[in-house]
Amino acid sequence: MINKKSDREIELMREAGRITALAHRKVAEAIAPGVSTFELDRIAEQAIRENGATPSFKGYGGFPGSICASINDVVIHGIPKKNIILKHGDIISIDIGACYKGYHGDSARTHAVGKISKEKEDLIRCTRESFYEGLKFAKPNNHLSDISHAIESYVVMHGYGVVRDFTGHGVGQKLHEDPAIPNYGDPGMGPLLKEGMTLAIEPMVTSGNYRVKVLSDGWTTVTVDGSDSAHYENTILITKDGYEILTTEEGGKTNVKE
Ligand code: MG
Ligand code: MG
Repeated sequence: MINKKSDREIELMREAGRITALAHRKVAEAIAPGVSTFELDRIAEQAIRENGATPSFKGYGGFPGSICASINDVVIHGIPKKNIILKHGDIISIDIGACYKGYHGDSARTHAVGKISKEKEDLIRCTRESFYEGLKFAKPNNHLSDISHAIESYVVMHGYGVVRDFTGHGVGQKLHEDPAIPNYGDPGMGPLLKEGMTLAIEPMVTSGNYRVKVLSDGWTTVTVDGSDSAHYENTILITKDGYEILTTEEGGKTNVKE
């Protein structure tokens, strides 16, 4: 069942989203060669807690970190560690969730560490742009898979792979709610979008084949072919005539391209 949120719930999700975005900014400011992913985790957790929220991921399904920190061929769910140190030329995907008064915000960004290759820059840009391509279809009475199809079409057109084993999702009182939101598929399928739905849309894109595998720690998800991967995610609200991005520091952006 897809939960539609009340005005009060949406207010709480705006604040959760704002805190999530703020934590992203703090982490982004700290990203540099020589920094460990454990340090980034501590910075995010502090920012979240200082703002009266809790890290959504910490303890979720047993996940040990407050953030996911996924470098190069790690697609998602990288566990922050003291001995994982950023190097010049890496790309790092940071996924952050913050829970404020029982409601979650969830968003992800991929960053450059120092100077990166043109190929990596292009991958990061295409991943971000694919989110906005999907967003064009985020309005009432469109089908959910209209978003999925737009993301896939854009990514494939640029010669990249769309990860299939993991999806976006509804979000609210639970970090993961119905519906699952694949980043691929035919248009015109799945539930109709309705005002008050809150969705985490999150393309995960690879520079090679889309196949991924989970390492023996049960979390770290890497590309099978060792290609690089990028991730971009926001929590959005379906409004009367479009959408609002909830995971921004300004407290919600309506129908604008960031
Ligand atoms: Mg996320
Ligand atoms: Mg998510």
